[in-house]
Amino acid sequence: MSKFDYDLFVIGAGSGGVRAARIAAGYGAKVAVAEEYRVGGTCVIRGCVPKKLLVYASRFADDFEDAPGFGWTVGETSFDWAALIAAKDKELSRLEAAYRTNLDRSGVEIIPEHATVEGPNAVKLSGSGKTVTAGKILIATGGTPWMGDDIPGREHVITSNEALELPALPKSIIVAGGGYIAVEFAGIFANLGVDTTLVYRGDKILRGFDEDLRDRLTEAYLKRGINIVTGHIFDRIDKTGTGLAGHLTSGQTLEAEKIMFAIGRTPNTRGLGLQQAGVELGWNGHVVVDEYSKSSVDSIFAVGDVTGRTALTPVAIREGHAFADTEFGGKPRMIEHTFIPTAVFSTPELASIGLPEHEAQERCTRLDVYKASFRPMRATLSGRDERAFMKLLVDGDSGKVIGCHVLGEGAAEIVQMATVAIRLGATKADFDATMALHPTMAEELVTMREKWIAPTEAAG
Ligand code: FAD
Repeated sequence: MSKFDYDLFVIGAGSGGVRAARIAAGYGAKVAVAEEYRVGGTCVIRGCVPKKLLVYASRFADDFEDAPGFGWTVGETSFDWAALIAAKDKELSRLEAAYRTNLDRSGVEIIPEHATVEGPNAVKLSGSGKTVTAGKILIATGGTPWMGDDIPGREHVITSNEALELPALPKSIIVAGGGYIAVEFAGIFANLGVDTTLVYRGDKILRGFDEDLRDRLTEAYLKRGINIVTGHIFDRIDKTGTGLAGHLTSGQTLEAEKIMFAIGRTPNTRGLGLQQAGVELGWNGHVVVDEYSKSSVDSIFAVGDVTGRTALTPVAIREGHAFADTEFGGKPRMIEHTFIPTAVFSTPELASIGLPEHEAQERCTRLDVYKASFRPMRATLSGRDERAFMKLLVDGDSGKVIGCHVLGEGAAEIVQMATVAIRLGATKADFDATMALHPTMAEELVTMREKWIAPTEAAG
């Protein structure tokens, strides 16, 4: 008999925590998971899933607009935000129930309470006031929206959490931020007919992505009527008769019914008792872990967004799974934090795998760049003024494809599959030897023949 109440106590039933709990229980461990909000975590309740459902809803606007080019007469359309939110909530409840069932079936005890760490093997449950012990503790508490400096009026703004539950669609919104969440929500609102402005402190949205994608999405958003203000942040927010007035560091004032902050996320470690238990935290409050997700305390581990590694669902799931295999399955396993594909579910959508061009240039002695910008077939009849874009980056010495960047319909689906090839070390010759599937967008990736020459080089 173990001297502890549990072999594993997981704090947080999100992507990483649920996977780790189920796999560990499958190996015969006695497992409990504490969840203070809803089982499923950010991805299911307040992230990937509800967001993508809203993206789907917003894209019908394009379908209605494009339909006449294909012979359709579309009558008057109208959109019911409340109906969408109700349908989305129903789906989230279904998913949450499925997560609960899976945990139950695996024999994992779900404790619906806030939990904190009381020592290397002790967890305090805030609701009941009980302390329980565990051989190992897994911190899988995820992250929460970061609200920036404490500027006057900050309490009036919403975050992605509230944006997913607004009782009514606002007439106008300002989204502060330039990362994928800000860009996606701006796209959703704009497509649903909301007067939308993006305010970003940097000079261009989507820092870290390939410059071509950043430029081309900016262009597409401007064409779609999204106002983009860069180089400034809000330093005060006031209530007005109809909504809010946001005062920018430039002196400009922007008014809208709602202001949403999507300026970053911060790991959920505050008040968790980790430092008192001897766990080292990083600059941003994230749990510092080794490649097996172990913290500076031997019995305490962490996976997912709380570790400040790559804040994406599939990564949290893999980390949770590898932790359980290592600690309870006798199969020590690290996960690769390379070849992680990413997407921005903007409209048009974009996705990337591998290095952006500016980084590839630094890493390679010679870089071959292949680019294609074209009018997608659907736009020929719809008349939509939008171009698709694809880029392959090839290490000139090895011939390997080290970056693939796509903007246009289905970009995320295309890049997911390109990731398999690129991870396996496919060369440009392998891409060229691959038979095209016609007529598709993706075939462009296996039919790019001409290297792209920068205009200055070409002129020289
Ligand atoms: P989470 O899923 O955040 O789970 C943590 C859980 O811990 C939460 O349920 C929380 O309530 C609970 N908790 C916290 N503290 C305590 C405590 N003390 N006691 C008890 N319970 C506690 N990723 C993608 O891959 N693709 C996307 O398209 C995507 N879109 C996103 C869109 C938005 C708007 C957001 C916010 C995120 C998105 N993400 C996306 C990121 C993704 O949701 C996260 O990377 C993922 O959920 C991280 O999983 P996790 O297990 O680390 O934590």
